[in-house]
Amino acid sequence: MKAGTPLGLEAKKYMDAGDLVPDEVVIGMIREGLTGRTDDFMLDGFPRTIAQAEALDAMLGDVGAPIDAVISFEVPRDELVRRLGGRWICRGCGRSFHETSNPYGGEPCSSTGAECDLYQRDDDRPEAVANRLDVYDSQTSPLIEYYESRGLLRRVDGALSLDDVQAQVVEAIS
Ligand SMILES: [Zn+2]
Repeated sequence: MKAGTPLGLEAKKYMDAGDLVPDEVVIGMIREGLTGRTDDFMLDGFPRTIAQAEALDAMLGDVGAPIDAVISFEVPRDELVRRLGGRWICRGCGRSFHETSNPYGGEPCSSTGAECDLYQRDDDRPEAVANRLDVYDSQTSPLIEYYESRGLLRRVDGALSLDDVQAQVVEAIS
């Protein structure tokens, strides 16, 4: 998306509305990223549908690198709305702030030296946030059962503090 490639611009259209990027677009991107990798890696926000999970299983089967663990961050819906709706990002340095939990303090931007130039992502606007959560319920939440039945699911209480969430993640993948 950042490089403005046709695939990236196609993906942005869906994300700005809070919709999922179509499976064939995302799977193509992941396949490109995984090709030739031999180290350990973590996928953040993928897969988001059963079809993507099945495609991932096939890709990892091809390279003989099975999934070690799947982490589900569990956060109440009203807390997610609060978090996503209050997020602001700097156009210069890319840092992300939150209206209440991590407000911008006015320090100079590490990229421009001036004040950070904050904007709200289209998919963090209130109407897109509501749609994202509905899309999660209908299309992504079935993955919990998918991975639980394979013994891979690790649940993390995402409503805790950053430090406590980090500790749970480390434990989940140890
Ligand atoms: Zn900045």
